[in-house]
Amino acid sequence: MECIVCKFGGSSLATTGGIQQAASLLKQNPARRCIVLSAPGKAPGITIKVTDLLIAIVKKSLDNRNCSGEIEQVKQRYRDIYISLGVSGDTCENVLSDLDERLSFPRENRDKYRDWVVAAGEDLNARLFAHYLSAEGMTARYISPGDGGLFVTDTFGDAQPLPESSLNLASLKQTCSDTIVVFPGFYGITKSGDIATFSRGGSDLTGAILSDALNAVEYENWTDVDGIYCTNPKIVDSPMQISALTYKEMRELSYIGFNVFHEEAVRPAMDKKIPIRLRNTFNPDNPGTLIASRRLPSERDIVGIASGGGYASFNLQKFLMNREKGFGRRLLSIFEEMSLSYEHCPSGVDNISVILAQAQLTPEIVNTIIRRIEESLQPDEIKTEFGISLIAVVGEGLLHKIGVLAQTAHALADANVNIKMANQGSSEISMIFGIDASDEKRAVKALYNTFFR
Ligand code: ASP
Repeated sequence: MECIVCKFGGSSLATTGGIQQAASLLKQNPARRCIVLSAPGKAPGITIKVTDLLIAIVKKSLDNRNCSGEIEQVKQRYRDIYISLGVSGDTCENVLSDLDERLSFPRENRDKYRDWVVAAGEDLNARLFAHYLSAEGMTARYISPGDGGLFVTDTFGDAQPLPESSLNLASLKQTCSDTIVVFPGFYGITKSGDIATFSRGGSDLTGAILSDALNAVEYENWTDVDGIYCTNPKIVDSPMQISALTYKEMRELSYIGFNVFHEEAVRPAMDKKIPIRLRNTFNPDNPGTLIASRRLPSERDIVGIASGGGYASFNLQKFLMNREKGFGRRLLSIFEEMSLSYEHCPSGVDNISVILAQAQLTPEIVNTIIRRIEESLQPDEIKTEFGISLIAVVGEGLLHKIGVLAQTAHALADANVNIKMANQGSSEISMIFGIDASDEKRAVKALYNTFFR
């Protein structure tokens, strides 16, 4: 039987109406056999996500501060949603008591404790949702990552799925044939039986892992927007919706700024070429945005323009640098030894820059980097720049299209934007420019007008 895996995000599940809508979407298409749920998120009038409340609870309880108000607030969110949907008060309280149990777990390892408590957001939701589907007369079963065998590394707060998970979860195919599998997103089980969560937004990853394991015909990712827009709607008014893009294009766009879909979630679907469709729970008539291995040549060469700020650059000059063997390796090893992750390393004849996220830096770290560079590489000059924004023009069309770089440079020049750095990798599916943060919005608007209007 064909199986569609559906993941519903927190904004889709924040209210009784959202939950009813999710159930009705399951009823509308019998191929929707597996549903992955986030914790209830924000909605009009609801200003905090359950996950954020749980994080606040963990912080307070680790500091031995009273958090009974927040605990009650979390429980009330679920009662408000499910009791009016016909889940009995007793069932609700029974499920919610699990939160108290988690809060009494040992706290020596703070990260482990955090994950046990924070994962409750998804877990309680999945259990109550399965009760609700049963009350609606649907055959549904809650399956936890422990039951299904979704094993992950014990890197709490940033767990990675272990390879055997896919094989373990494949056995759920049988269950899916006669039951809707209701699975909590965002976490897995370590080899020692602890809960470990993915990074924030990680329910997308759970959906992708299940799509891979169940060999889904499609992975539907239901959210509160119609699809992916070709640029940031906070910068350009009502930008065009992207109808289709490739996995690689999605990866490039989510690298800077496009965070509609968790960046690690592309991989499991891409490996099996499972199409991912981002859709709006509250506007299912819109076909959404398809992410697949290929798109048609008739579609645009450029699919999107992404931008993001907060980068710093270390720019080195040294006469005859090009003849000095190992210069680049020694430079990058300084960053590696200091556990700093770099983003780009554009170079010229006698100059090279290292661009990295500024959030990793402190004045002391900057000073150490400069000192180490001087000791190891004796550059003629070393300059630092902060507050750089990166802007990416992304599209598989770049591979065979002449003049896109020229068009981009023209558009930026006309908008009076100075390009500090330009980088096009060998994959030729994105061009990345470093510009002054104060130029970012102007640059995005200019490029949108050039490629999409
Ligand atoms: N609830 C978690 C978060 O807010 C995970 C998710 O929704 O994907 O990050």
